Amino acid sequence: MKDSNFLKENNARHFWHPMTSPEDSHTTPPTIIVKSEGVCIEDIDGHSVVDAVGGLWNVNLGYSCQPVKDAIATQLAKLPYYSTFRGTSNDAVIELSYELADFFAPDGLSRAFFTSGGSDSVETSLRLARQYHKLRGEPGRVKFLSLKKGYHGTHFGGASVNGNANFRTAYEPLMPGCYHIPAPYTYRNPFNETDPAKLAQLCAAALEDEIKFQGAETIAAMIMEPILGAGGVIPPHASFAPMVREICDRHGILLITDEVITAYGRTGAWSGARLWGIKPDMMCTAKAITNGFFPFGAVMLGDKMIETFENNPAAKIGHGYTYSGHPVGAAAALACLAETKRLNVAENAAARGTQMYEGCMALMEKYDIIGDVRGGYGLMTAIELVSDRATKAPIDGATAAKVQNVAYEAGAMVRVSGPNIIMSPPLVVTENDVQTILAALDAGFAAV
Ligand code: PMP
Repeated sequence: MKDSNFLKENNARHFWHPMTSPEDSHTTPPTIIVKSEGVCIEDIDGHSVVDAVGGLWNVNLGYSCQPVKDAIATQLAKLPYYSTFRGTSNDAVIELSYELADFFAPDGLSRAFFTSGGSDSVETSLRLARQYHKLRGEPGRVKFLSLKKGYHGTHFGGASVNGNANFRTAYEPLMPGCYHIPAPYTYRNPFNETDPAKLAQLCAAALEDEIKFQGAETIAAMIMEPILGAGGVIPPHASFAPMVREICDRHGILLITDEVITAYGRTGAWSGARLWGIKPDMMCTAKAITNGFFPFGAVMLGDKMIETFENNPAAKIGHGYTYSGHPVGAAAALACLAETKRLNVAENAAARGTQMYEGCMALMEKYDIIGDVRGGYGLMTAIELVSDRATKAPIDGATAAKVQNVAYEAGAMVRVSGPNIIMSPPLVVTENDVQTILAALDAGFAAV
């Protein structure tokens, strides 16, 4: 490996970083992370911090997690790759699909389609939704509905249902036939409604209204995150997801839950669907499926999909990836699922999530710069920064960056996304780790 001077000199010189401008990477060089242990990461200067980002919402079991590393090494030695396209399979992926069918049985999902990550999972679900309706003799059902502020990855389909202009505008025109419903975002919404239950009803009514306007017979599916993640951790009122499920059912529209973040325990439940007591027709998963150690994902499929696609010679799936069912990813996922269950990480996520949420609420008492704190469902927490609490005027980027930098120096990596500081640490954090994160945030806010 080259020395640290070489790495710093060449930092961001020869590759473009996602989700920022090349110019920004030059003026504010990225922190070079070189090591990790437990829930901590260490940078090139030897500064070690608690990773309150959890990689990118994916390193649920922390960085050490030996069983996943061992499974990857063993599988690499045995069968590093083979395709699962028509005609071949591998032992790891067969066993994984068996385990996933069991894990997601309470969600009514018993088949898997494997992908290489979250955006692939979203794309897969959208394509299969259209095919489902074609197979059932309703080829006119091609449109998609989703929530504003929703994040569904960056492929063209996912970007088209994405509800944040930052990921859309530069890449337009996107896929036609995608329509967005107001999100149940209590702090800011077009209805000026501050009661979460009433807002949930208004958003559900807006969904119903859009369906009538478009014509239910033109709509394939609604895709939504059970708790909006990248959009700023927006948990809806508990009544919202069941209302959406009922509306979709009434209009013959498939419901896809995008659980790339929420599946495998992050919300304190094993899936977001289970948290809200609904059964989706498809569920997109990725990220924590391999603890972030291997690019992998799975779309889980429910009864409607199974009944329509199975025992039907016309249901040829013209979709798939070279790495669908990758044996190394499958082996990693198998080990990860076993550890996820053995450590019962959902329970710790719920307890530590409450601690994090209450700690952030206490910071809000102390600092006017905090306009809103959202969370309370596992280890997904956001602090929304404002320059004026009364008018809710958004914060400038430099102030948010300063909070982040000071917090980093004080011992925690947190993530700034627009006006939000987002915390999504590994689900195995201890009470002490959460205290470290809260103390680091406190230092960050004190500095501005
Ligand atoms: N859907 C959701 C809900 C996500 O949070 C993400 C990633 N943050 C994606 C899809 C895309 O996943 P990936 O970056 O692995 O393609």
